[in-house]
Formats: sequence, C-alpha cells, structure tokens
Amino acid sequence: MRRRVWVNLPALFKEDNIEREVERISSIGFEELLLLISDGNVTLFDSNVRSNKPNYRFHSRLEKTIEIVHRMGLKAHAWIVTLKISNEGFVKEHADWYVVNKMGESSAEKPPYVEDYKWLCPRKPQVIEFTKDFFMEVASRFDFDGLHFDYIRLPDIILPKGLRPRYYGVPLEEVYTPRFDFCYCNGCRGLFMSEVGVDPIKIEYDDPLYQRFFRWRADGVTNLVREVYNAVKSVRSDIEVSAAVFPTPTIAYKYVFQRWHEWPLDLYDPMIYHKYYEMDVEWIGEAVHEAASMNLPISAGILLDFMERPEEVYRALQLAVNNGAKGITIFVYPPRNLKALEWVKNSLNMLKHY
Ligand SMILES: [Zn+2]
Repeated sequence: MRRRVWVNLPALFKEDNIEREVERISSIGFEELLLLISDGNVTLFDSNVRSNKPNYRFHSRLEKTIEIVHRMGLKAHAWIVTLKISNEGFVKEHADWYVVNKMGESSAEKPPYVEDYKWLCPRKPQVIEFTKDFFMEVASRFDFDGLHFDYIRLPDIILPKGLRPRYYGVPLEEVYTPRFDFCYCNGCRGLFMSEVGVDPIKIEYDDPLYQRFFRWRADGVTNLVREVYNAVKSVRSDIEVSAAVFPTPTIAYKYVFQRWHEWPLDLYDPMIYHKYYEMDVEWIGEAVHEAASMNLPISAGILLDFMERPEEVYRALQLAVNNGAKGITIFVYPPRNLKALEWVKNSLNMLKHY
C-alpha cells in the first residue's frame, strides 16, 4: 500500500525547521510527500514561467527540502495547482486566458463562489503552452519523483451537496445555472462553432446539443492533461504523473467536467471527502470501487479533519485497500486536529502488511 500525504509546504516553511517536520511526517508512516509548490498565487521558487508574489521570501529552499526528503528515504512529488490562478499580476497580464460564464462574465473579474476562484481556459492554446512550460520547468529543474496536478478542471457547474448552502445564489438541487456555467470565452465559442456549427451560448439546457457541448468541454481538459503528460515524459520519462481528482468518475464528470478515467496518468488520487457529499465513511469503499473496477490505479484521498474518531480513520483506510486502492493519500499535513496524526500512525501500523 502506498502511503501518501498532501503537504502544505508554505505552512512548513513558516515552521522554519524543515528537517524536523519531514522527520515527523516520516514517523507517522508516510512514504510519499506531495509538496505544494504552487498554489496559484505563490510559487515556492523563482519560476521563469509563473509570476509570483513580489518579495516572496522562501525562494531557493525547495532544493534543500527535496534533498532532506530523499535523505530520509522518502519520495517527493510536486503538487501543482494547475488552472486556478489568482496571482494578481498574472491575472492582470493574462485576463483574456480566463474562463467566461454563460452570462459573459469572466472569472478573472467576477469569480464564482469565492474571491480567488479565477480559472484558466483549458482550450486556449496559450494556456496549454503555459501549463506545459511550467510542468516541464519543474521536472527539469528539480529532482522530484513525481508531478501532481490539482485544480485540473473547470469551475464547479454543480457543487457537492454539503457545500451548496454555504454560498449565495447556489441552487440546492442539481441544476445548471448560467452564472456557474463556464466556458463561453470567445475561443471556446469560436472553436465549438467551427466544429459543430452552433454558438454554444445559444444552446438551451434541455437541448441534446447541450450535453454535446458539456462533453466537448470535458474533452478540452482531457486534452490538456494529455499534452502536459506527454511533454513531461519527453523531458523525464522516469517521473510519475498523478492528479487530485473528484471522488468518482461519475461525480467528476457531472460536477467539474473531469473524465479522469480517460486521462493518461500513472496514478489517480480521488478526493473522497465524504462529508462534502453528505456521506459517511462507508462511502469511501464504494467510491474506490467505482474507479478500481475500471482497472485504474487509485490512491484514495482521505480528508483527515472529517474524521471524528480513531476507528473512523482505520475504517477508511481499510475500506480503501479492500476495494482495490493501491494506496491512500491523506489531506493534509499539518491537519487542524493534530491528534488525528496519531490515529493515522496507528491505522497505518495496523495495516502494515498491505
Ligand atoms: Zn474557453
């Protein structure tokens, strides 16, 4: 069983003792660290591709971190927030790269749900080049064992059930709303028009063509993943490429345009964060089963702060492996509830023969 953990690296850098933090992570039983190196605002190194916050003070410590991780016999993956880029300078410079909703509003100016929900359009040739360039830069400049996509999708056209009441104007049912329906940028409208002969903005929700446009948008995301995957493998064939994806292929397509079961990846980390879907821990097994039965290599993403008791952590991990997961990926280190790290340690220990 692979023992992976998403690591909030900027938070660790604030602790100022990387060595001690990595030791702590290792002592819990984790073997693979997914290190957040770019959250769409801050990038933890001086990139030639992505703009950064001015005067960011943690530049140049990334090499050292990877070195420490390797010295302790662990693996380091670069966790990259891919399409959600809210860096102010970047947004200003590339406002025309952002997704636009069915009302004609750009997420660069009027982001849906939350202030930093500013998303690049995966169909734009400049976005494809930019994403490839950044992933290739990370692969060639650092000694990472893997690269990990996150936020690789369109904004949620439908939110998980448990999140709907949190935001103003979000329907409680599974229905489409023009305000949360992206991407109708000029590029997408033109491309779809030339392929299908219809301007998508004129398609009603009950028209069968709408489902075609829906699929077309998901295929745009798939195409981006494929382009980046091939580019990365061309510079470093040994590097593993994985992604944080929505919990099941069915939900991922319906809510966020991910057909991740068709993406060329080495490993998939579905975020099976049960409480967002108003489900209990048992659902983790069902969600893993859906993808594992398609023969996809899965590492089950578990949100630690949703766990209320030690037995729940053990049950979640056990359900994941029993339903065919190759591993588990814990979100996130450091968790809010530090006590839960002990629960993970004990659970991993009890599952040591897997
Ligand atoms: Zn677009």
